[in-house]
Amino acid sequence: MTAICTNLNQVLENIAAAARKAGRAPETVKLVAVSKTVPVGPIQEAIDCGQVLFGENYLQEAAEKIPQLRGASWHYIGHLQSNKCREIATLFDTVETVDRLKVAYRLDEQAAALNRQLKILVQVNIGEEPQKAGVMPDETEALLAAVRNCAHLRCLGLMALPPHFDDPEGSRPYFRQVREIGETCARKELFFDNQNLELSMGMSGDYPAAIEEGATIIRVGTALFGSRPGKIKEGEK
Ligand SMILES: *Cc1c(COP(=O)(O)O)cnc(C)c1O
Repeated sequence: MTAICTNLNQVLENIAAAARKAGRAPETVKLVAVSKTVPVGPIQEAIDCGQVLFGENYLQEAAEKIPQLRGASWHYIGHLQSNKCREIATLFDTVETVDRLKVAYRLDEQAAALNRQLKILVQVNIGEEPQKAGVMPDETEALLAAVRNCAHLRCLGLMALPPHFDDPEGSRPYFRQVREIGETCARKELFFDNQNLELSMGMSGDYPAAIEEGATIIRVGTALFGSRPGKIKEGEK
């Protein structure tokens, strides 16, 4: 078994343990393997080990790699610029980082032109950090209400990148707040499928806590592929 396969199995075991601890079925958590800066070889290894969902942050890099890889489904988790929406709508299955109406409208237009439905999440700046992307918590409902009118977008839930803590317990209250906002918005029927709210939160350092607080999608890079060269601080563009 390759190192990546071993890492993948370990992460899947940890996911199952965290889910059970929270009284949830392990299948309710989807793993997005974050493959930014990772070459196609190791990504292919992960695919060969059964991993299907991958996340990329940088459009140019993703555009080179994605056509070389079969059998994967791609989540865009990087910063969104409205002039890049056409290519993003072409390459990606889900866009996790919609945080303003302008990019929602651009993605909707491009998805319409491609005659497809694009799955999206709305990114919430849950720590209200000025250097981070995401809609402010108290503006989330208004954005979701507007996005609901985009005929080619299916907004399935929320994504968040809480402030960094060395102790994963530090993130826990933020994860909980994301879930509370999501559940409130689902009660108001602001998502495409309000019975199945998606919450994308938790990374290598804190995904068990995120799962315990309700994450349905976790985004894990380092724990699968090892640390990135010249590691870029999480959440930066
Ligand atoms: C890089 C990145 C991740 C993965 O981070 P790791 O700590 O390597 O697991 C998750 N989400 C986003 C938005 C990222 O940019």
